[in-house]
Amino acid sequence: MKVHADRDVCIQSGNCVMCADNLFDQDDDGIVVVLVDDIPADEEDKAREAVRFCPSQALTIVD
Ligand code: SF4
Repeated sequence: MKVHADRDVCIQSGNCVMCADNLFDQDDDGIVVVLVDDIPADEEDKAREAVRFCPSQALTIVD
C-alpha cells in the first residue's frame, strides 16, 4: 500500500503527523511529506486513519 499526498491541497493541519509520525512529516512550510514509499502491513491501519482524519482530503491510498 502507498499513500499519495497532494501537496497543493494540504492545509498544514498536521493531523497526519499526529496519527503516524513515522509515516508523515511536515516540511518547513508545514506541508505534508510522506516518509515511507511502501507502507508496511502493520502500519496500514495508522495510514488509513491519517487519510481519514486529513481535513482537506490531501491524502489518498494507492494500492
Ligand atoms: S492532515 Fe492533511 S492537511 Fe493536515 S498536514 Fe496532513 S496532509 Fe496536510
